[in-house]
Amino acid sequence: MTLAPEHRDFQLMCRAFTDKQVRPAVAQAETDGRLTDELWRSMGAAGMLGLMTPEEQGGSGRDQVAVAIVAEELARAAGGVAIGPLVSAYMAGTHIIDNGTDAHREEFAEGIAAGEKIASIAVTEPGAGSDVAGLITRAVAADDGYRITGQKMFITNAGLADVLIVGAKTEPGRGHRGITTFLVRAGTEGLSVGKPLPKMGWRSSDTREVILDNVFVPRSDIVGGLNRGFYQIMAAFQLERVILAAMGVGHAAEAFELAIRHVRDRAAFGGHLIDKQSVRHRLATMEIDLDTARMITYLAAEQLRTGHPDAPRTVAKAKYHAAVAAARVVDDAVQLHGGSGYVEEGDIARHQRDVRILRIGGGVDEVQLDILSKAYA
Ligand SMILES: Cc1cc2nc3c(=O)[nH]c(=O)nc-3n(C[C@H](O)[C@H](O)[C@H](O)COP(=O)(O)OP(=O)(O)OC[C@H]3O[C@@H](n4cnc5c(N)ncnc54)[C@H](O)[C@@H]3O)c2cc1C
Repeated sequence: MTLAPEHRDFQLMCRAFTDKQVRPAVAQAETDGRLTDELWRSMGAAGMLGLMTPEEQGGSGRDQVAVAIVAEELARAAGGVAIGPLVSAYMAGTHIIDNGTDAHREEFAEGIAAGEKIASIAVTEPGAGSDVAGLITRAVAADDGYRITGQKMFITNAGLADVLIVGAKTEPGRGHRGITTFLVRAGTEGLSVGKPLPKMGWRSSDTREVILDNVFVPRSDIVGGLNRGFYQIMAAFQLERVILAAMGVGHAAEAFELAIRHVRDRAAFGGHLIDKQSVRHRLATMEIDLDTARMITYLAAEQLRTGHPDAPRTVAKAKYHAAVAAARVVDDAVQLHGGSGYVEEGDIARHQRDVRILRIGGGVDEVQLDILSKAYA
């Protein structure tokens, strides 16, 4: 995959930033279950969080390819460190930028791009994940606004967020046509979050349950129009899926490099592991997985950037293939590391834990296949 010169320069900047500022912070962030505010703001200052934010709000415009680069490079260090800022800037913040009012953008866009404010997107519920239309959180018209009651599950940044974008049913009888998204500020009466959920991976990200108990939201904090929420959530999934695919590319790239280094160094059978043809064949299949995942992911990002009509199908292919291929590459890298791949002190075990969620979050594998397979009927 050949990047345009400006994207290549940006990639080099992101890689240098990750090496210098992110990698040294990973171990502590994994223990703390979050990044420091300082690291969050450094990402903002480096221009990594304002790539979908208009220039007048402190961003650099709209560039989905650059967003994919940030996702890939941060995930090379750790998925958990990457996902919090990516959710804030490009999964929740983009709802405000694309669908919010001028007042919403004025209040939040610049702060999110600077890494000074944190946003969450709260759609999933205990009873509704893939089936977004099945969510039951209810928003009832009251006074000059709505009162929201419901429970959200697995919400990234929930314990850190200054603002949450919440999906709720405004007309329950209308299925997906009855969902509206609301902007809910932290500290609003009736809004609370659970304890951080212990997770298999993404340990440096904050994931919690969110409870809304009769939370009042003024009409002015509807994001993007009454009953338009489902369509906004589906539109936002496009970039979200490219980000998750690009994170897969980052994990696979890192695991591939770690595996090559290990098999070259590891003495065995009077030589080194690299001397075994079957080991080199395994590396070759890993490289094929890595390259194909990267190609389809950046094609999807480029199609989103240019508004290509094939973008939704390419995004589904990228999300599916990159997540599955990355899981294979990382698993192969663990295998090539032997016992040292299974203990926690090395990076490879963390990549193994972090990569698994990519086949689930932002639309499970099966949802991507559903999107593609509709064309065959
Ligand atoms: C760490 C983490 C962070 C998350 N962050 C957020 C967040 O910030 N905001 C948010 O709103 N959500 C978030 N989520 C939720 C995530 O998006 C959902 O977990 C995901 O969409 C899957 O939904 P589910 O867990 O309800 O699984 P389900 O929808 O119940 O699916 C379970 C399984 O059923 C099968 N299945 C589902 N649909 C189909 C289908 N159409 N055809 C065939 N088989 C199917 C698949 O095997 C699937 O894996 C997060 C989840 C995790 C674990």
